[in-house]
Amino acid sequence: MIEPVAIPAATPLTRRSLQSQVVWGQRIVTVGGQAPVRVQSMTNTDTVDVIGTAIQVKELALAGSELVRLTVNTPEAAAAVPHIRDQLDKMGVDVPLIGDFHYNGHRLLMEHPACAEALSKYRINPGNVGKGDKHDLQFGQMVEAALRWNKPVRIGVNWGSLDQELLAELMDQNSRRAVPWEARQVMYEALITSAITSADKAHELGMQREQIMLSCKVSGVQDLIAVYRELGKRTDYPLHLGLTEAGMGTKGTVASATALSILLQEGIGDTIRVSLTPQPGESRTQEVVIASEILQSLGMRIFVPSVTACPGCGRTTSSTFQELAKQIDDFLRAQMPVWRHRYPGVENLKLAVMGCIVNGPGESKHADIGISLPGTGEAPAAPVFIDGEKKLTLRGENIAQEFQQIVEQYIEKRFGDALHTS
Ligand code: SF4
Repeated sequence: MIEPVAIPAATPLTRRSLQSQVVWGQRIVTVGGQAPVRVQSMTNTDTVDVIGTAIQVKELALAGSELVRLTVNTPEAAAAVPHIRDQLDKMGVDVPLIGDFHYNGHRLLMEHPACAEALSKYRINPGNVGKGDKHDLQFGQMVEAALRWNKPVRIGVNWGSLDQELLAELMDQNSRRAVPWEARQVMYEALITSAITSADKAHELGMQREQIMLSCKVSGVQDLIAVYRELGKRTDYPLHLGLTEAGMGTKGTVASATALSILLQEGIGDTIRVSLTPQPGESRTQEVVIASEILQSLGMRIFVPSVTACPGCGRTTSSTFQELAKQIDDFLRAQMPVWRHRYPGVENLKLAVMGCIVNGPGESKHADIGISLPGTGEAPAAPVFIDGEKKLTLRGENIAQEFQQIVEQYIEKRFGDALHTS
């Protein structure tokens, strides 16, 4: 007889980076160390459009984005930032804003102190702060602004705007090696060196190491994994993780989820962003939904109640089952901004919407509330399971609405009570 061996549960490696804080007013978002991996996003409105940008930041925050970055590319955009912040404060949205600077960030931060103050963090791209003699000077001016306003920074390297002087120097060194590295490996080295030497420079100029985060974004999945594994080995700064220019729709979603999941499972990554190109008409908040789902699927964070739904097959009689699963999922997501405060712990709720009797009752019993719809040839009845027991059976045309009411009543009873008794 074969002796059974207990299979250990897969656990991600312990994260071991420094911890920093991104602050706005009373809102403190801890990043790195043992803090939860944070979801970040970026607006795509014109920053000069104060109202449009504030509305999008609010939408991203309500969808679950804990940090929102916006581009600060012109004097007009820098002048708009404090007004965007005011507008958000008036709307009760305290999500910290991160300024994304390229080329002229040193000037904008010096000439627009209200912008420097309204932002909670600055992103500095060492490949875009100036060439030759100007590089160190302008990088130093951005660090000076961060010190003056007591703001953390992210040294954000991107292979599309890599420091070309550094890359040329490393290529030159490589040509003198007895066995030269492949060009791709030199590029990895240039990305990592650019991030770490810039962070060390910021530290020499007076920044606390806890106020510095790093990122080295590339657009290939294997490249990202290779670069971040090495970055994770060489430094303990908190890491912002994202597959840059991931693309649209399914391709962008799958590529981001694949790359980020592998690294997160290894304990690499303290904030994440899914850089999805929205499809025409698609909301910008989709990138937040995907980032949250990646963390929730890995069991690292819980943001919304989960809906287990079977894929359906030849046993499913109609589209009712798909419609019900979608309707319930959309309903839960839409309610979360309110429920998060009204029903503490509601995000732990588990629902099941199943297509027939084969796995329906079993899966429904594992959920807090489950429904098993009738499959082909089954009696037109949908048993509902609550806390593992069959409690009632729904029939007729209004199964979806009745099931939604059952879910709402369950949430009020279970999580509303938690609020009233705490
Ligand atoms: S639960 Fe039923 S309908 Fe759903 S996939 Fe399994 S067999 Fe098909």
